[in-house]
Amino acid sequence: MGKKEDKIIQLPYGITVRELAGRLDTSAVQVIKILMSNGVMASINQTIDFDTAAVVATELGFEPQLEQEEVIEEELGEIPLWRRVIKEEEKESLTARPPVITILGHVDHGKTTLLDAIRNTNVAGGEVGGITQHIGAYQISYKGRPLTFLDTPGHAAFSSMRARGAQGADIVVLVVAADDGVQPQTREAANHAKAAQVPIVVALNKIDKAGANEDRVMRQLSDIGLQPEAWEGETFVMPVSAKNREGLEDLIETILLVADNMTIKANPKGDCIGTVVEARLEKGRGHLATLLVQNGTLKVGDVVVAGEATGKIKAMFDQRQKRVSKAGPSTPVLVMGMNALPEAGDLFQVVASDREGRAMVAQRKAEREAKRNIKRATLEELFNRYKSGEAKELRLILKADVQGSLEPITNELEKLSGQHKDISVKVLHAETGNVTESDIMLAAASNAVVMGFDVSIDQGARRLADTEGVSIRLYNIIYRMVEDVDKALSGLLEPEMVERVIGKAAVLATFKVSKGGTAAGCRVLSGEFRRNASVRITRAGEEVAVVEIAGIRREKDEVREVREGMECGITLKNFEDFEVGDLFECFVVEKFGG
Ligand code: GDP
Repeated sequence: MGKKEDKIIQLPYGITVRELAGRLDTSAVQVIKILMSNGVMASINQTIDFDTAAVVATELGFEPQLEQEEVIEEELGEIPLWRRVIKEEEKESLTARPPVITILGHVDHGKTTLLDAIRNTNVAGGEVGGITQHIGAYQISYKGRPLTFLDTPGHAAFSSMRARGAQGADIVVLVVAADDGVQPQTREAANHAKAAQVPIVVALNKIDKAGANEDRVMRQLSDIGLQPEAWEGETFVMPVSAKNREGLEDLIETILLVADNMTIKANPKGDCIGTVVEARLEKGRGHLATLLVQNGTLKVGDVVVAGEATGKIKAMFDQRQKRVSKAGPSTPVLVMGMNALPEAGDLFQVVASDREGRAMVAQRKAEREAKRNIKRATLEELFNRYKSGEAKELRLILKADVQGSLEPITNELEKLSGQHKDISVKVLHAETGNVTESDIMLAAASNAVVMGFDVSIDQGARRLADTEGVSIRLYNIIYRMVEDVDKALSGLLEPEMVERVIGKAAVLATFKVSKGGTAAGCRVLSGEFRRNASVRITRAGEEVAVVEIAGIRREKDEVREVREGMECGITLKNFEDFEVGDLFECFVVEKFGG
């Protein structure tokens, strides 16, 4: 065997185990063995990302480098991406689809009330923490014609999501309160709509109020380039009272009129693509995503790629929780079966196979990672500036599950600065993903607190935080996070409950148990597994579900815990969709920080 020390090897973003073995001049079994010793369970045809492949290559004496592919930046132009996906030869097959409408406007001008009035139900009372955290969607039928509404969040903090809301819409309804007039977010929303070339219908709301001044608002609208139609302009301005449900029919008729003057078409038989409207993790049901189909027809059994998530659709539900087997253009559906949470605003597409889906995701992840590494260096510079500064500030490192949450949370937190004397809030670093060791090092170096929103803590990060004395706090309601920071500024903070990983195990087999259900036959790779704990299931590096442990068995006996090296049968509460090769991570929830 030749000397391998200085063998540089170029590897792509994603590569199958088989191909990697070929390139490294070794057997696939050897590669799988090395992966296993690093806690990664992979089959011969599975695609692994560059980082994982690099570990194998290094162990075999190679020096891995990321293959630099020529990335051709697509000229995006002003037209929403999905509209351009419709192919020239498809034009013949295009048929009319319902218009998609999004409601934008300044906070408190009545967006939620208007959406409710249109939907004729009331969700405003039941919002988590009083804030709509993600956009949903619903379809109504008016005089036999369907219209789809994107349910945009009704809080000031969500401007970035609203900006994305405009991307998937055909028409923007801009809500302006007649007593308050054009405000900063009215202007911002109008600009987003114009940039996306989406026509605007103005809903002049709250005309029932004593302070309503329609003329003044019409003037302000003209000033921002929305010349009312009544004043020889092109913008329909429809007076409504969302509260009293007045003027709604005229508003909807106007929306339909505008829609009739546009080409709102799609090919139900074409390539299936669309936009992620919202995504959330639900115990027992896994990753749920609301998808708005924009071309083609989405079916149960299709493999979908959305952002960095993929999966075969196990089940689909409409807005009334009814199971559906397919969804055509302009239809929003809730889908089950994704292996991770995509982000609101991500484009989704149907691909040919599970394998293709995984390869695409691996590539996207590697691309993002590559970009992130470039950003890090400049962040360090920023720190030095903060560290040398005189200002007294509470420094935060923010981690969130989706990009769309980062900006609103940062804004909300930094807004607190104005409300406290002598101390301000500074978000030093905001990024998506779990809390990692590098976040802890950053926090330790800059005396910062790590705040996580809908994320968990990597095991190494947790250990490092303990030794470095870094406080980590996890939340799943923005309002609570903001409230806690507010309390911290006043010196009133209580300890928070956090997750701590206590063990890892690999699923070697699955089998039926006597009392019904399926157990996972596991080997504990490290740490321990306890009853009364929970399990995070990952498959090929992707999170599948988070569920509570129902029971642990050794041979025939129910036991309280199992340790490293032991084999056992684990049953989970209301969950049996695990597979051979899955990785189980056992964690407990306990007090931390404060
Ligand atoms: P959003 O922040 O834009 O979603 O605004 P909301 O829908 O939450 O409404 C803000 C406040 O304005 C609430 O107290 C509503 O009850 C009130 N409101 C909304 N529409 C009307 C209306 O047509 N007339 C009056 N008088 N109040 C309204």
